[in-house]
Amino acid sequence: MEPVKRFIAGAVCPRCGKMDSVRMHRDEEREHRECIECGFSDSLRLDGRPEPKEIDTRVHKEKHEDRLSAQATKPKEVKAEPIRLLDPGKS
Ligand SMILES: [Zn+2]
Repeated sequence: MEPVKRFIAGAVCPRCGKMDSVRMHRDEEREHRECIECGFSDSLRLDGRPEPKEIDTRVHKEKHEDRLSAQATKPKEVKAEPIRLLDPGKS
């Protein structure tokens, strides 16, 4: 399931300074921004709490954690498994 990614009008990438190249999406906890020009990305907690000091290691951990937390906190989506298109005519 792809998260919705939207470009932020007028946003300027803090790294490369390009305008309108930053897009964002959010999950349960965080709002993520990424720049399609230079690959910059960061994330903010939705509740506004300060970042824990694990930003450096967070990047590669995050995908795994996203999966776990998505399953734990979003029962709706757990049921929405990918539709199998094996035998469309059978049922
Ligand atoms: Zn950039």
